Amino acid sequence: MRWDNLGDRPEGAAGAAVTGEAALFGTDAVTTRTFDTPEFRGITFHEVRARSILNRVPGASRMPFEWTVNPYRGCTHACVYCFARRTHAYLDLDTGVGFDTQIVVKVNAPEVLRRQLASPRWQGAHVAMGTNVDCYQRAEGRYRLMPGIIEALRDRANPFSILTKGTLILRDLDLLRQAAEVTDVGVSVSVGFTDQELWRTVEPGTPAPERRLDVVRTLTDAGIGCGVLMAPVIPFLGDRPEQLRATVRAIAEAGATSVTPLALHLRPGAREWYAEWLQHHHPHLVPRYERMYAGGAYAPTWYQRRITRQVHEFAAEFGIGPAGRGEARRVAPPGRAERAGGPARARAGEAREAPPAEPTQLTLL
Ligand code: SF4
Repeated sequence: MRWDNLGDRPEGAAGAAVTGEAALFGTDAVTTRTFDTPEFRGITFHEVRARSILNRVPGASRMPFEWTVNPYRGCTHACVYCFARRTHAYLDLDTGVGFDTQIVVKVNAPEVLRRQLASPRWQGAHVAMGTNVDCYQRAEGRYRLMPGIIEALRDRANPFSILTKGTLILRDLDLLRQAAEVTDVGVSVSVGFTDQELWRTVEPGTPAPERRLDVVRTLTDAGIGCGVLMAPVIPFLGDRPEQLRATVRAIAEAGATSVTPLALHLRPGAREWYAEWLQHHHPHLVPRYERMYAGGAYAPTWYQRRITRQVHEFAAEFGIGPAGRGEARRVAPPGRAERAGGPARARAGEAREAPPAEPTQLTLL
Protein backbone atom coordinates (compact mmCIF):
# COMPACT_ATOMS: atom_id res chain seq x y z
CA MET A 1 0.00 0.00 0.00
CA ARG A 2 1.13 3.52 -0.67
CA TRP A 3 0.41 5.04 2.68
CA ASP A 4 2.04 8.33 1.78
CA ASN A 5 -0.93 9.03 -0.48
CA LEU A 6 -3.65 8.71 2.09
CA GLY A 7 -4.72 12.31 2.14
CA ASP A 8 -6.62 14.24 -0.47
CA ARG A 9 -3.75 16.13 -1.89
CA PRO A 10 -3.52 19.84 -1.26
CA GLU A 11 -3.67 21.90 -4.38
CA GLY A 12 -2.06 25.25 -5.02
CA ALA A 13 -0.02 27.56 -2.88
CA ALA A 14 -2.66 28.38 -0.30
CA GLY A 15 -3.42 24.70 0.13
CA ALA A 16 0.22 23.93 0.65
CA ALA A 17 0.46 26.73 3.19
CA VAL A 18 -2.25 25.23 5.33
CA THR A 19 -1.92 21.54 4.69
CA GLY A 20 1.85 21.18 4.74
CA GLU A 21 3.67 18.38 2.96
CA ALA A 22 2.17 16.32 0.21
CA ALA A 23 3.22 13.10 1.92
CA LEU A 24 0.68 13.02 4.69
CA PHE A 25 1.48 9.83 6.52
CA GLY A 26 4.54 7.77 7.23
CA THR A 27 4.41 3.99 7.06
CA ASP A 28 5.20 3.80 10.76
CA ALA A 29 1.91 5.57 11.47
CA VAL A 30 -0.27 2.64 10.42
CA THR A 31 -1.93 0.37 12.96
CA THR A 32 -4.20 -2.33 11.61
CA ARG A 33 -7.13 -3.55 13.70
CA THR A 34 -10.07 -5.87 13.41
CA PHE A 35 -12.99 -6.09 15.83
CA ASP A 36 -14.80 -9.33 16.49
CA THR A 37 -18.25 -7.85 16.81
CA PRO A 38 -21.06 -8.58 14.36
CA GLU A 39 -21.08 -4.95 13.26
CA PHE A 40 -17.44 -4.98 12.18
CA ARG A 41 -16.87 -8.60 11.27
CA GLY A 42 -14.81 -8.89 8.10
CA ILE A 43 -13.73 -5.26 8.24
CA THR A 44 -10.14 -4.16 8.69
CA PHE A 45 -9.35 -0.73 10.04
CA HIS A 46 -6.07 0.97 9.21
CA GLU A 47 -5.48 3.65 11.81
CA VAL A 48 -3.19 6.43 10.67
CA ARG A 49 -2.08 9.73 12.10
CA ALA A 50 -2.67 12.48 9.58
CA ARG A 51 -0.29 15.39 9.27
CA SER A 52 -3.00 17.45 7.62
CA ILE A 53 -6.78 17.17 7.51
CA LEU A 54 -7.93 20.25 5.57
CA ASN A 55 -7.90 19.40 1.89
CA ARG A 56 -8.18 21.94 -0.86
CA VAL A 57 -10.44 21.02 -3.77
CA PRO A 58 -8.70 21.46 -7.14
CA GLY A 59 -9.53 24.78 -8.77
CA ALA A 60 -10.95 23.11 -11.88
CA SER A 61 -13.44 21.10 -9.85
CA ARG A 62 -17.18 21.66 -10.26
CA MET A 63 -17.59 21.34 -6.50
CA PRO A 64 -19.36 24.32 -4.92
CA PHE A 65 -16.85 24.43 -2.06
CA GLU A 66 -13.11 24.79 -1.74
CA TRP A 67 -12.14 22.90 1.40
CA THR A 68 -13.03 19.47 2.68
CA VAL A 69 -12.33 17.28 5.70
CA ASN A 70 -12.42 13.51 5.26
CA PRO A 71 -11.60 11.52 8.40
CA TYR A 72 -12.09 8.16 6.65
CA ARG A 73 -11.15 6.43 3.42
CA GLY A 74 -13.29 3.55 2.20
CA CYS A 75 -16.89 3.14 3.34
CA THR A 76 -18.75 0.26 4.95
CA HIS A 77 -22.00 1.58 3.51
CA ALA A 78 -20.81 -0.30 0.43
CA CYS A 79 -22.93 1.41 -2.20
CA VAL A 80 -22.23 -0.41 -5.44
CA TYR A 81 -22.15 2.81 -7.46
CA CYS A 82 -19.92 4.81 -5.10
CA PHE A 83 -17.68 7.12 -7.12
CA ALA A 84 -15.09 7.19 -4.32
CA ARG A 85 -14.15 3.58 -5.04
CA ARG A 86 -11.40 4.61 -7.37
CA THR A 87 -9.69 6.58 -4.59
CA HIS A 88 -8.90 3.24 -2.95
CA ALA A 89 -6.77 2.41 -5.97
CA TYR A 90 -4.50 5.32 -5.04
CA LEU A 91 -3.65 3.33 -1.90
CA ASP A 92 -3.11 0.13 -3.89
CA LEU A 93 -6.29 -1.20 -2.30
CA ASP A 94 -9.07 -3.02 -4.09
CA THR A 95 -11.88 -0.78 -5.35
CA GLY A 96 -14.55 -3.47 -4.99
CA VAL A 97 -14.88 -5.44 -1.75
CA GLY A 98 -11.69 -3.75 -0.51
CA PHE A 99 -13.35 -0.35 -0.57
CA ASP A 100 -16.19 -1.74 1.58
CA THR A 101 -14.00 -3.58 4.07
CA GLN A 102 -10.56 -1.88 4.27
CA ILE A 103 -11.22 1.36 6.10
CA VAL A 104 -8.57 3.97 6.72
CA VAL A 105 -9.19 5.99 9.88
CA LYS A 106 -7.38 9.27 10.52
CA VAL A 107 -7.51 8.86 14.26
CA ASN A 108 -6.06 12.27 15.08
CA ALA A 109 -8.38 14.19 12.73
CA PRO A 110 -9.97 16.38 15.45
CA GLU A 111 -6.70 17.57 16.96
CA VAL A 112 -5.10 18.20 13.56
CA LEU A 113 -8.16 20.16 12.44
CA ARG A 114 -8.11 22.25 15.61
CA ARG A 115 -4.46 23.09 15.00
CA GLN A 116 -5.00 23.95 11.33
CA LEU A 117 -8.04 26.12 12.03
CA ALA A 118 -5.92 28.10 14.51
CA SER A 119 -3.28 28.84 11.87
CA PRO A 120 -3.00 32.55 11.06
CA ARG A 121 -3.05 31.53 7.41
CA TRP A 122 -6.50 29.94 7.67
CA GLN A 123 -9.14 32.40 6.46
CA GLY A 124 -12.22 30.66 7.89
CA ALA A 125 -13.52 29.25 4.60
CA HIS A 126 -16.47 26.91 4.46
CA VAL A 127 -15.51 23.28 5.13
CA ALA A 128 -17.50 20.50 3.46
CA MET A 129 -17.65 16.99 4.92
CA GLY A 130 -19.03 13.76 3.51
CA THR A 131 -17.84 14.79 0.07
CA ASN A 132 -15.62 11.80 -0.52
CA VAL A 133 -16.84 9.05 1.78
CA ASP A 134 -19.46 9.09 4.50
CA CYS A 135 -18.16 10.60 7.74
CA TYR A 136 -21.06 8.94 9.60
CA GLN A 137 -20.42 5.43 8.33
CA ARG A 138 -20.46 2.63 10.93
CA ALA A 139 -16.80 3.12 11.86
CA GLU A 140 -17.70 6.50 13.31
CA GLY A 141 -19.71 4.74 16.01
CA ARG A 142 -16.46 3.29 17.33
CA TYR A 143 -13.93 6.01 16.53
CA ARG A 144 -16.09 9.04 17.38
CA LEU A 145 -14.09 11.51 15.32
CA MET A 146 -16.94 13.77 14.28
CA PRO A 147 -17.73 15.21 17.74
CA GLY A 148 -14.18 16.54 18.02
CA ILE A 149 -14.29 17.82 14.45
CA ILE A 150 -17.56 19.67 15.00
CA GLU A 151 -16.29 21.07 18.30
CA ALA A 152 -13.17 22.39 16.58
CA LEU A 153 -15.29 24.09 13.91
CA ARG A 154 -17.73 25.40 16.49
CA ASP A 155 -14.98 26.86 18.64
CA ARG A 156 -13.61 28.82 15.65
CA ALA A 157 -17.13 29.71 14.41
CA ASN A 158 -16.08 28.17 11.11
CA PRO A 159 -18.92 27.48 8.63
CA PHE A 160 -19.34 23.89 7.50
CA SER A 161 -21.66 21.40 5.86
CA ILE A 162 -22.19 17.66 6.13
CA LEU A 163 -23.61 15.26 3.56
CA THR A 164 -24.44 11.80 4.84
CA LYS A 165 -26.50 8.65 4.63
CA GLY A 166 -25.72 7.83 8.25
CA THR A 167 -28.31 8.01 11.00
CA LEU A 168 -25.40 8.31 13.42
CA ILE A 169 -25.37 12.04 12.76
CA LEU A 170 -28.21 12.34 15.27
CA ARG A 171 -25.78 11.37 18.03
CA ASP A 172 -24.17 14.78 17.42
CA LEU A 173 -27.37 16.80 17.26
CA ASP A 174 -26.53 18.92 20.30
CA LEU A 175 -23.13 19.77 18.90
CA LEU A 176 -24.67 20.73 15.57
CA ARG A 177 -27.08 23.00 17.39
CA GLN A 178 -24.25 24.62 19.30
CA ALA A 179 -22.29 25.18 16.10
CA ALA A 180 -25.37 26.62 14.40
CA GLU A 181 -25.60 29.22 17.16
CA VAL A 182 -22.29 30.71 16.05
CA THR A 183 -21.85 29.92 12.35
CA ASP A 184 -23.50 28.64 9.19
CA VAL A 185 -24.19 24.92 9.31
CA GLY A 186 -25.68 22.94 6.44
CA VAL A 187 -26.77 19.33 6.57
CA SER A 188 -27.90 17.24 3.62
CA VAL A 189 -29.02 13.64 3.62
CA SER A 190 -28.76 11.46 0.54
CA VAL A 191 -31.87 9.50 -0.48
CA GLY A 192 -32.00 8.56 -4.15
CA PHE A 193 -35.04 6.28 -3.95
CA THR A 194 -37.33 4.58 -1.48
CA ASP A 195 -37.62 1.20 -3.21
CA GLN A 196 -36.75 -1.43 -0.58
CA GLU A 197 -35.46 -4.14 -2.87
CA LEU A 198 -33.25 -1.74 -4.77
CA TRP A 199 -31.90 -0.37 -1.49
CA ARG A 200 -31.01 -3.81 -0.13
CA THR A 201 -28.99 -4.77 -3.17
CA VAL A 202 -27.38 -1.54 -4.29
CA GLU A 203 -26.76 0.17 -0.91
CA PRO A 204 -26.40 -2.89 1.32
CA GLY A 205 -24.54 -1.27 4.22
CA THR A 206 -26.63 1.87 4.57
CA PRO A 207 -29.51 2.68 6.88
CA ALA A 208 -32.83 2.19 5.09
CA PRO A 209 -34.15 5.17 3.13
CA GLU A 210 -36.97 5.67 5.63
CA ARG A 211 -34.46 5.80 8.50
CA ARG A 212 -32.54 8.48 6.61
CA LEU A 213 -35.75 10.41 6.15
CA ASP A 214 -36.30 10.10 9.90
CA VAL A 215 -32.98 11.91 10.23
CA VAL A 216 -34.26 14.69 8.02
CA ARG A 217 -37.39 14.92 10.14
CA THR A 218 -35.50 14.97 13.43
CA LEU A 219 -33.02 17.59 12.26
CA THR A 220 -35.79 19.76 10.91
CA ASP A 221 -37.77 19.43 14.12
CA ALA A 222 -34.62 20.45 15.99
CA GLY A 223 -34.36 23.62 13.91
CA ILE A 224 -31.58 22.44 11.65
CA GLY A 225 -32.67 22.83 8.07
CA CYS A 226 -31.86 19.70 6.12
CA GLY A 227 -31.88 19.26 2.36
CA VAL A 228 -31.99 15.99 0.47
CA LEU A 229 -29.65 15.06 -2.32
CA MET A 230 -31.83 12.71 -4.34
CA ALA A 231 -28.95 10.65 -5.56
CA PRO A 232 -28.44 8.58 -7.38
CA VAL A 233 -31.49 8.25 -9.56
CA ILE A 234 -30.78 4.85 -11.03
CA PRO A 235 -31.71 4.35 -14.69
CA PHE A 236 -34.33 1.69 -15.45
CA LEU A 237 -34.52 0.63 -11.78
CA GLY A 238 -35.45 3.74 -9.84
CA ASP A 239 -36.47 6.31 -12.42
CA ARG A 240 -40.06 5.53 -13.31
CA PRO A 241 -42.28 8.59 -12.77
CA GLU A 242 -44.23 6.86 -10.01
CA GLN A 243 -40.95 5.96 -8.25
CA LEU A 244 -39.67 9.52 -8.52
CA ARG A 245 -42.99 10.86 -7.28
CA ALA A 246 -43.06 8.49 -4.28
CA THR A 247 -39.52 9.48 -3.33
CA VAL A 248 -40.12 13.21 -3.64
CA ARG A 249 -43.32 12.85 -1.66
CA ALA A 250 -41.51 11.03 1.16
CA ILE A 251 -38.75 13.67 1.13
CA ALA A 252 -41.31 16.45 1.34
CA GLU A 253 -43.19 14.72 4.14
CA ALA A 254 -39.94 14.45 6.08
CA GLY A 255 -39.73 18.24 6.04
CA ALA A 256 -36.64 18.60 3.85
CA THR A 257 -35.78 22.16 2.92
CA SER A 258 -34.83 21.20 -0.62
CA VAL A 259 -34.44 18.30 -3.00
CA THR A 260 -31.69 18.07 -5.59
CA PRO A 261 -31.82 15.18 -8.06
CA LEU A 262 -28.72 13.65 -9.53
CA ALA A 263 -28.67 10.82 -12.06
CA LEU A 264 -26.30 7.91 -11.61
CA HIS A 265 -22.81 8.48 -12.91
CA LEU A 266 -20.29 5.73 -13.28
CA ARG A 267 -16.65 6.58 -13.18
CA PRO A 268 -13.78 4.16 -13.41
CA GLY A 269 -13.66 2.13 -10.21
CA ALA A 270 -17.40 2.33 -9.70
CA ARG A 271 -18.19 1.50 -13.31
CA GLU A 272 -16.67 -1.98 -13.27
CA TRP A 273 -18.12 -2.84 -9.85
CA TYR A 274 -21.57 -1.63 -10.87
CA ALA A 275 -21.35 -3.57 -14.15
CA GLU A 276 -20.68 -6.78 -12.18
CA TRP A 277 -23.61 -6.06 -9.92
CA LEU A 278 -25.90 -5.35 -12.86
CA GLN A 279 -24.85 -8.50 -14.64
CA HIS A 280 -25.67 -10.51 -11.50
CA HIS A 281 -28.95 -8.86 -10.51
CA HIS A 282 -30.38 -7.43 -13.72
CA PRO A 283 -28.59 -9.01 -16.69
CA HIS A 284 -31.32 -7.99 -19.11
CA LEU A 285 -30.42 -4.33 -18.46
CA VAL A 286 -26.76 -4.63 -19.44
CA PRO A 287 -27.26 -3.67 -23.11
CA ARG A 288 -29.35 -0.64 -22.14
CA TYR A 289 -26.68 0.53 -19.71
CA GLU A 290 -23.99 0.04 -22.32
CA ARG A 291 -25.91 2.37 -24.60
CA MET A 292 -26.76 4.85 -21.81
CA TYR A 293 -23.14 5.19 -20.65
CA ALA A 294 -21.44 4.71 -24.01
CA GLY A 295 -20.33 8.34 -23.93
CA GLY A 296 -18.55 8.17 -20.57
CA ALA A 297 -19.28 8.43 -16.87
CA TYR A 298 -22.41 10.54 -17.11
CA ALA A 299 -25.86 9.73 -18.39
CA PRO A 300 -26.77 11.68 -21.53
CA THR A 301 -27.87 15.28 -21.07
CA TRP A 302 -31.40 14.54 -22.29
CA TYR A 303 -31.76 11.95 -19.54
CA GLN A 304 -30.40 14.20 -16.82
CA ARG A 305 -32.74 16.97 -17.93
CA ARG A 306 -35.71 14.64 -17.92
CA ILE A 307 -35.00 13.50 -14.37
CA THR A 308 -34.41 17.04 -13.16
CA ARG A 309 -37.61 18.31 -14.76
CA GLN A 310 -39.74 15.49 -13.38
CA VAL A 311 -38.32 15.80 -9.88
CA HIS A 312 -38.84 19.55 -9.90
CA GLU A 313 -42.43 19.06 -11.03
CA PHE A 314 -43.09 16.62 -8.21
CA ALA A 315 -41.25 18.89 -5.80
CA ALA A 316 -43.55 21.76 -6.77
CA GLU A 317 -46.55 19.46 -6.30
CA PHE A 318 -45.45 18.62 -2.77
CA GLY A 319 -44.27 22.10 -1.86
CA ILE A 320 -40.55 21.62 -1.67
CA GLY A 321 -37.89 23.45 -3.64
CA PRO A 322 -34.61 22.56 -5.30
CA ALA A 323 -31.43 23.41 -3.43
CA GLY A 324 -30.03 26.87 -3.81
CA ARG A 325 -26.36 27.49 -4.18
CA GLY A 326 -25.11 25.16 -1.50
CA GLU A 327 -26.95 24.06 1.57
CA ALA A 328 -24.84 25.97 4.04
CA ARG A 329 -26.77 28.56 5.95
CA ARG A 330 -27.28 29.69 9.49
CA VAL A 331 -29.96 27.46 10.88
CA ALA A 332 -32.84 28.46 13.04
CA PRO A 333 -32.39 28.00 16.76
CA PRO A 334 -34.21 25.05 18.29
CA GLY A 335 -37.92 25.48 18.63
CA ARG A 336 -38.40 27.69 15.63
CA ALA A 337 -38.82 24.94 13.11
CA GLU A 338 -42.38 23.91 12.58
CA ARG A 339 -42.69 21.84 9.51
CA ALA A 340 -46.10 23.11 8.67
CA GLY A 341 -45.49 26.76 7.90
CA GLY A 342 -42.21 27.04 9.80
CA PRO A 343 -38.80 28.11 8.58
CA ALA A 344 -38.30 24.95 6.56
CA ARG A 345 -41.39 25.77 4.56
CA ALA A 346 -40.31 29.34 4.16
CA ARG A 347 -36.95 28.28 2.83
CA ALA A 348 -38.59 25.80 0.48
CA GLY A 349 -40.66 28.67 -0.82
CA GLU A 350 -37.57 30.79 -1.35
CA ALA A 351 -35.87 27.92 -3.07
CA ARG A 352 -38.68 27.57 -5.57
CA GLU A 353 -37.76 31.01 -6.82
CA ALA A 354 -34.13 30.02 -7.21
CA PRO A 355 -32.77 28.66 -10.50
CA PRO A 356 -32.70 24.87 -10.69
CA ALA A 357 -29.59 23.47 -9.10
CA GLU A 358 -27.02 22.03 -11.46
CA PRO A 359 -25.78 18.52 -10.70
CA THR A 360 -22.50 19.67 -9.23
CA GLN A 361 -22.35 17.17 -6.38
CA LEU A 362 -19.67 14.67 -7.24
CA THR A 363 -20.25 12.25 -4.42
CA LEU A 364 -23.17 9.88 -4.47
CA LEU A 365 -23.52 9.69 -0.75
S1 SF4 B 1 -21.93 6.53 -1.80
FE1 SF4 B 1 -21.47 7.47 0.17
S2 SF4 B 1 -22.43 6.15 1.69
FE2 SF4 B 1 -22.29 4.98 -0.21
S3 SF4 B 1 -20.35 3.86 -0.07
FE3 SF4 B 1 -19.92 5.79 -1.12
S4 SF4 B 1 -19.29 7.18 0.48
FE4 SF4 B 1 -20.31 5.48 1.48
